[in-house]
Amino acid sequence: MNADRRISVIQRHLRRESAEDYAAPIHKLAVNATKATSEAFPQATSAVIKFPENKGDYFDLDGMLTPSAKAVRYRVREFMENEAAPIINDYWERADFPQQLRAGLGKLGIGGAGIKGYGCSGLSVMEEAMAMMELARVDASLALAYLVHDSLCAHTIDKVGSEEQKQKYLPKLSTFEYMGCWALTEPDWGSDAASLAMTATKVDGGWRLDGCKRWIGNSTFADVCCIYARGSEDGQVKGFVIEPKTQQGWTVEKMENKVAMRITQNGDITLTNAFVPDSQRLPGANSFADATGALATSRVIVAWQPVGIGMGIYDACHRYLMERRQFGAPLGAMQIQQERLMRMLGTLQAMIGMAHRATVLAEEGRLTPGKASLAKAWNTSAGRQLASLGRELMGGNGIIHDFHVAKAFCDMEAVHTYEGTYDVNMLVAAREMTGVAAFKPSARKSK
Ligand SMILES: Cc1cc2nc3c(=O)[nH]c(=O)nc-3n(C[C@H](O)[C@H](O)[C@H](O)COP(=O)(O)OP(=O)(O)OC[C@H]3O[C@@H](n4cnc5c(N)ncnc54)[C@H](O)[C@@H]3O)c2cc1C
Repeated sequence: MNADRRISVIQRHLRRESAEDYAAPIHKLAVNATKATSEAFPQATSAVIKFPENKGDYFDLDGMLTPSAKAVRYRVREFMENEAAPIINDYWERADFPQQLRAGLGKLGIGGAGIKGYGCSGLSVMEEAMAMMELARVDASLALAYLVHDSLCAHTIDKVGSEEQKQKYLPKLSTFEYMGCWALTEPDWGSDAASLAMTATKVDGGWRLDGCKRWIGNSTFADVCCIYARGSEDGQVKGFVIEPKTQQGWTVEKMENKVAMRITQNGDITLTNAFVPDSQRLPGANSFADATGALATSRVIVAWQPVGIGMGIYDACHRYLMERRQFGAPLGAMQIQQERLMRMLGTLQAMIGMAHRATVLAEEGRLTPGKASLAKAWNTSAGRQLASLGRELMGGNGIIHDFHVAKAFCDMEAVHTYEGTYDVNMLVAAREMTGVAAFKPSARKSK
């Protein structure tokens, strides 16, 4: 796509947004900013004008994919490069979610991955992984919205929901007509989520829920929320599926001032004496282990998120080195820059290898929680190193999101922390290898 065509895509989006009442005056500035970047810095192409070509697939990931996984990969890539990339930086800047992309996401056939029936796509784990990677290559927040909506919310309903709940929610979640969220973390209980304090008290015909949740992605606009609370009588964790827009006693406040995943709408939820009928209880979620069952597969999918983010960073850096000139030569002709680029490429190939193997094990039913955790933890750690090199490689433009790397660098930081922090995932894997759980420190004082 040339620059003029790119700008016309942005303008088309703006018109569509106005029609859907998402317009804000600042949108106009996005087009001006796009033009200004290309004029003020003519040596390198902004990712808004044209998203960089994929160059990071050095060891031929495609060669390990089935035709259908490849088809998912290229379908999602085309959508993200053409529909999301031209507008996404503006949304990141404003910490807003591009609602108008939901219809297009629905048409990609990636909703309801791994779910048979109910109008769901039923993607294999590898196909879902490819969708995740290509979403993250252009924008990690959209990838995170997909993760929470599909791998967590829809999967939970499919695994532990009633037949009635599946029929009610899964068809609409699979097309993104409904958006889902998944609420486990609380203000006082992050890594130690098993100690969650939200209460569920049995009353006639249902339950009363009381307590708070924090960090819940998509929650400010979600139609469906899988939420966990502790039974007041038996102390066991129980799951519920509720409809936030009509749920009595529900309030949600958007979390502000994030420096990463700014497009993801994380919310602070409060439930106050909120009545939830028995029909909205998730019948298969009767313990913390049941509640977090969806995490087993989603952790493998998350392992692909740093791969996708890393790929976008690599692609942007590769192009930048060829376009930007200093001392009479392209930066790509300088030895230090070439070494930096190859260190990034090597790291990326290792990350792909780790994620691919974990995904194959998942498809063969041989993936253990420890292996999933190690893949997620190791990839996010390697991804941070890659992102740091990319930021450095670009000089000043490494902190301006027009050239993509700055946004991806910030977003990579967050992946290190959600779906279990790096530390906690390493401890999950270490428990499997040593047989010793090291989560709880000894309370003994040293003499
Ligand atoms: C962008 C984003 C999106 C999120 N989306 C959701 C969502 O949709 N739904 C949801 O339920 N939650 C969500 N979360 C919450 C996320 O799962 C928690 O942030 C995560 O579990 C860590 O909890 P915490 O932030 O409270 O950190 P803490 O648990 O307070 O940890 C702080 C630090 O201490 C370390 N630490 C903690 N325990 C140990 C230990 N035993 N041994 C060694 N080190 C330890 C951690 O690794 C970390 O470095 C999201 C978080 C982020 C950042």
